Amino acid sequence: MKVLVINCGSSSLKYQLIDSETEAVLAKGLCERITIDGKLTHTTTGKEKYTIDADMPDHNAAVQYVLDALLNKETGVLSSLKEIDAVGHRIVHGGEKFAKSTVITDDVLKAIEGCNDLAPLHNPANLIGIRACKKLMPDVPMVAVFDTAFHQTMPDKAYMYGLPYEYYVNYKVRRYGFHGTSHCFVSKRLAALIGKKPEECKLIVCHLGNGSSITAVDGGKSVDTTMGLTPLAGLPMGTRTGDVDPAIIEFIASKENKTVKEMNDILNKKSGMLGLSGVSSDFRDLDAGIAEGNDRCRLAVDVFSYAVKKYIGAYAAAMGGLDAIAFTAGVGENNPYVRRLATEGLEFMGITLDENANQVRGEEARISTADSPVAVWVVPTNEELAIARETVALI
Ligand code: ADP
Repeated sequence: MKVLVINCGSSSLKYQLIDSETEAVLAKGLCERITIDGKLTHTTTGKEKYTIDADMPDHNAAVQYVLDALLNKETGVLSSLKEIDAVGHRIVHGGEKFAKSTVITDDVLKAIEGCNDLAPLHNPANLIGIRACKKLMPDVPMVAVFDTAFHQTMPDKAYMYGLPYEYYVNYKVRRYGFHGTSHCFVSKRLAALIGKKPEECKLIVCHLGNGSSITAVDGGKSVDTTMGLTPLAGLPMGTRTGDVDPAIIEFIASKENKTVKEMNDILNKKSGMLGLSGVSSDFRDLDAGIAEGNDRCRLAVDVFSYAVKKYIGAYAAAMGGLDAIAFTAGVGENNPYVRRLATEGLEFMGITLDENANQVRGEEARISTADSPVAVWVVPTNEELAIARETVALI
């Protein structure tokens, strides 16, 4: 089967066409600046990448450009749209309504819309993507895969905040967690790599990218995760604060005469690695800064890695044991320095990194010593493939 995977943002749309039998990526690309002007970057595997400035006043136009690119005789990979057997959509927030991926029906669309409140920047864009695809491919089955679904197995003691209970009852304020597709995919792979069934092991998955989260996976189920009601919580990230004392918000707002909305913007876009270093949100730039002796770059990476280490300790305690840790996503897969800082001193917990093995970048590899009781692996994530697999399983 050929599955089109769509990840739609408010002004962007990423896509991959995947052959579900071979799991090969047949084509992929990105539409940017939708509603502004529009740009499409498309690659069909084995052919040259091309970029065009395109007129994308809305997402319908963007989806049309994607389909045209896939059908294009010279650069495309399909001879007819009928060859697309299914579309899998990434949806950021499924609230408490979706503990699993689901085939998209009118009722499902309404239920996703019901979660808009919880992810006002993401869900409406995801819905626009679904509607645009439905309009142009009305007979193709579509599946929604939620970032939050994998974490719906968390016990109430892990997902409830110490707030008045009525905020949970009235507004569903609780921890949801994100990156669920990645945590699920990587934890299954990690279990296989250590020769166990997912039901038999206690794992920690560190998804460290521009957005970062860590999940405790016990017996194949998410039992705790660092992100919360929104993806702002947990680890400090590229531009997001992660956990801070909530009183800081009012404190700074009154000192600098800022509104809640302005504070939210600072917490989401000007904090984390960017705010601490004053240089960049990108770990490659921070590494370069450290090499040049920039102490604030050093500080940013130290704060990040220390937070990762604390969550590893916390989640081992939460699960009452630990079999293996996976590092994944841009930083987790490619940054030996962060992996070392995040695990050094944890030998007392059975975690010993092999410094040579830890130099690996972007490849699946065991990076702990052969006699380390807790296995530590780099496991590349593949959210698009996970979405394609879910889509095929459901249709
Ligand atoms: P997102 O959360 O946007 O999906 P990614 O998982 O792509 O982010 O991670 C982006 C981060 O990963 C950046 O800080 C970047 O420095 C780092 N990164 C990505 N690829 C590499 C690489 N090949 N080498 C070193 N660092 C990388």
